[in-house]
Amino acid sequence: MSQTLQAVRGMNDILPADAETWEYFEDIVRDWLQSYGYRPIRMPLVEPTPLFKRAIGEVTDIVEKEMYSFEDALNGEHLTLRPEGTASCVRAAIQHNLIPAGGPQRLYYYGPMFRHERPQKGRYRQFHQIGVEALGFAGADTDAELILMCARLWEDLGLEDVALEINSLGSPEERAQHRAALIAHLEQHQDKLDEDGKRRLYTNPLRILDTKNPELQAIVEAAPRLADYLGDESKAHFEAVQVFLKDAGIPYRINHRLVRGLDYYNRTVFEWVTTRLGAQGTICAGGRYDGLFEQLGGKPQPAAGFAIGIERLLLLWQACGGEAERPVPDVYVVSVGEAAQRLGFRAAETLREHGFAVLMHCGGGSFKSQMKKADASEAPVAIVIGEDEAAAGEVGLKPLRVAGAQQRVAIDDLVEAMAALMFPEEEDEEV
Ligand code: ATP
Ligand code: MG
Repeated sequence: MSQTLQAVRGMNDILPADAETWEYFEDIVRDWLQSYGYRPIRMPLVEPTPLFKRAIGEVTDIVEKEMYSFEDALNGEHLTLRPEGTASCVRAAIQHNLIPAGGPQRLYYYGPMFRHERPQKGRYRQFHQIGVEALGFAGADTDAELILMCARLWEDLGLEDVALEINSLGSPEERAQHRAALIAHLEQHQDKLDEDGKRRLYTNPLRILDTKNPELQAIVEAAPRLADYLGDESKAHFEAVQVFLKDAGIPYRINHRLVRGLDYYNRTVFEWVTTRLGAQGTICAGGRYDGLFEQLGGKPQPAAGFAIGIERLLLLWQACGGEAERPVPDVYVVSVGEAAQRLGFRAAETLREHGFAVLMHCGGGSFKSQMKKADASEAPVAIVIGEDEAAAGEVGLKPLRVAGAQQRVAIDDLVEAMAALMFPEEEDEEV
C-alpha cells in the first residue's frame, strides 16, 4: 500500500467547523471595510521575484530566507509565492494606472501569504492576511484613519488586551543621518553582536533595533533614537497623527524601537500587540510607505496601509470568548419510498425558492433513522413524507424546535404553513 500523503508542513487545512468560523468572521470584516469606504482588489498569488526584492528589500528576513521562489520550468522566469500583499497591490495600481485615472484609492484584499518560517502557534508557512492600503493619500489624517479602523474592528469583535504601539521612521534623509549614528554606536559593541547583527551592521542596521535577542537589549536600548533625528515636517506629521488618536480616545505607546521588518516604510509605523498569544503577539502591523511607488517604477505617490494576521486574530478572538454562529437549516426533509422522495424534492425546491434553507435527506433509511438525522441537524422543522402523503400530494410538517402541532398540508399550501410556523408574530400582525 502506498503511503498516505500529507499537507506541506506549516500549511494547514481549514476543516468545516473552522472554515465556518472563518466565513462568519469574513462577513464581519467585509462590513467593517465597507463602512470605511474601502474597495476590494484581488491580485495573483504568484509574482515575479524581483517585485519582492525591490519592494521589501534584499536585506530583510523575508527576502533573505522566507520566500518560496522557483523558476518557471517552461520559460525560466523567476517567480515567488507572495509573502505579503502590499508590493503586489502597488504593482497593480501602477500597472493599471489606478490613481491617475481614478484618484486616490482605498483598497483591501484578503488571502493566503507564504513564508518559509519555523511553524509554531500563530506562525505558519501558509497564513492569511487582510491587507488594507490607502494609495495616493499623503496626510496624517489617513494614518489616523487606518489606526482608528483597526480599533473599531477590535471593538466589533470584542477583543481584549490589544495595545497600540507607534513610531515615526521619518524621511529617507533623516533615516540616513540616524543610520550613520547608529552604525557608529553599534561598531563600538561589534564583538557583542550576534550573527544577524554582524551581518546587518552595514546593510540594515535599523533592523538590529528590533532584535529579540535578550543579550543585545542593553546595546539597542542605548542606541541613538530615530526620534532625535526627525525634521520639522516629520515631527509635525507624527504629532498630527497623535492628536487624532487622542481625539478618538485610543491609548498608545511610542515604541522607539518599532522599525518594522520591511524596507519600504517611512514616517508613521504602528503595530497592535497582545500579551495573550505568547511570542506571536503582533496581530496587525502597518505604516506609511511614500517611496514604494517610485521604487517600483511608478510615478511617486504617497501611501499607507496595514496587514492583519488572520490566524492570530482568530486565536485572540476565540481566547476572548468569540464564537461564530453556526449555520442551521430551516427544514430537514424526511421521506420513505420513491414517490415520497420525488415529492420531497419538489417540496424542498419550493421552499428554497421562497428563501428557506433546506437539508434534503439523501441515502435512504427508515423514518426512525432519518428523524435522528433531522434532529441532529438542529433544523426547527421537519417535513415528513410517507407513501400516504405522497399519494395525496401532501406533506407532514413536524415542529422540532418551534411551537406547534404536527400537521399535514397540501404541497401548494406548504410555503404559507412553513412561514406560519417559523414567523408566528408576523402572521398575527397580518390578521
Ligand atoms: P513577525 O515579527 O511576527 O514575524 P512580521 O513583521 O514578519 O511579523 P508582517 O510582515 O508585518 O509580519 O505581517 C503582518 C501580520 O501578519 C503580522 O503582524 C502577523 O499578524 C501576520 N503574520 C506574519 N507572518 C506570519 C506567519 N508566518 N504566520 C502567521 N501570521 C503571520
Ligand atoms: Mg516575520
